[in-house]
Amino acid sequence: MPLANLADAARIKEHCGLFAVFGHPKAAELTYLGIYAQQHRGQESAGICSLKDGRILRHAGMGLVTQVFDRRSLVGLEGHAAIGHVRYSTTGSCHEINSQPLLVNCAQGQVAVAHNGNLINAADLRAAHEARGAIFQTSSDTEIILHLMASPSFADSPDPLAAVLRELSGAYCLLFIFPDRIEAARDAHGLRPLCIGRMEDGAHVIASETCALDIVDADYVRDVRPGEIVTLSETGLSSRTFVKPDPVRTAHCIFEQVYFSDPSSNVFGQNVHAFRTACGRELAREAPADADLLIPVPNCARCAAIGYSEESGLPLGRGFTTSHYMGRSFIMPTQSQRDLVVRMKLNVIREAVRGKRLVVIEDSVVRGTTTRGKMGALRKAGAKEIHLRVASPPIRHPCFFGIDFPNPKKLIARTRSVGEIGDYLEVDSLAYLSMGGMLRCAKHHPKDYCTACFSGAYPMTVHHPVDKHRLEKTPLSL
Ligand code: SF4
Repeated sequence: MPLANLADAARIKEHCGLFAVFGHPKAAELTYLGIYAQQHRGQESAGICSLKDGRILRHAGMGLVTQVFDRRSLVGLEGHAAIGHVRYSTTGSCHEINSQPLLVNCAQGQVAVAHNGNLINAADLRAAHEARGAIFQTSSDTEIILHLMASPSFADSPDPLAAVLRELSGAYCLLFIFPDRIEAARDAHGLRPLCIGRMEDGAHVIASETCALDIVDADYVRDVRPGEIVTLSETGLSSRTFVKPDPVRTAHCIFEQVYFSDPSSNVFGQNVHAFRTACGRELAREAPADADLLIPVPNCARCAAIGYSEESGLPLGRGFTTSHYMGRSFIMPTQSQRDLVVRMKLNVIREAVRGKRLVVIEDSVVRGTTTRGKMGALRKAGAKEIHLRVASPPIRHPCFFGIDFPNPKKLIARTRSVGEIGDYLEVDSLAYLSMGGMLRCAKHHPKDYCTACFSGAYPMTVHHPVDKHRLEKTPLSL
């Protein structure tokens, strides 16, 4: 997410972005660029582990990529392979100790891991290890993976990594760096995206999104398949399957397309901008409105607004400006503080909206408080009518797979009808894109997507509600 778009981050917290490269003399610099291009996937911390002369080096810290790294830190990471990570905490506090990649020395040697997703059985696995005396350094679900890898029962198996991965439940794209190779793995449902690229000189790269391939000038090769481990080493790229996706059903997170991924990226084989504009067109067919002007709420709803305008013929205008210079509103602890930051970031262009009947396009509505503030600002600026159109269905359920929606009780659509939500938002009319309409815009068969936050149909059984801070016994001091 570009900085200008961070106002939106007050609503939904994102997850993480991954990047890896093997066999390139500027591996750390490329990885810096790769995670920079995916800053929209996490703004709390950033880190890189590189490989030099058989040793794994690490630099990580709190903040944006440009705040964590400078020329000196990148020179210190010089090597021929690297993995990188940007993080928003979906499990564990926003604290330096949880920044990734996590690097350990174990009986098998050095290994570092970077994770995008959320393990729904991490608490059970951790409790079992702690009962046997294991000591955990972080409150992140990712650390259990390193403990499993170090335990003799897995280390002695013919394929230790595959054996460990078969123990994990939930969503995970993982990058590991060992003294001789990088390994990348994707869970059997393929919940989060992970793709492979190739540079002109033959070096392979791996990234959460294809926008990171573009920034390093790598060609897209293919996605890492659900249930696959890809190895990058001196002998090139090799692949093996650690679990067969069939009969496990594919469940790509539809919210990656709706909200999280960069519009320039191709995710799950489909361009994000193309998906969102198609949703906008579908929304215009499902929920037309008589109006003078169409405006998107910056910035995520722009693609959908283009589609709505194309289909409806309504002129697409600009009702808001965004400040490019604001910090990270999502770290504000209270709703009133977040609202204040959003007000400071989004300014209404009075002359554009005064006396107009507006169709306003939003990508999604979560708590509703932020959207209500924006609609109030338009009304105050003199908008005559406001017809709010949301380019995704109502969010009614929590996500256990790496997206940090607020407490389910705070989801506005959890208990309210569309009419009641419209009343709360104080708009003249409100309509959401239907589930069928959204899925018609997606490339794959509807059964190949996770839509649980809209539908409540989870792709796997979740035995315990997953809380972000569940692995914290003692609060980490900030
Ligand atoms: S519940 Fe929603 S946000 Fe979470 S993985 Fe499924 S579609 Fe994505």
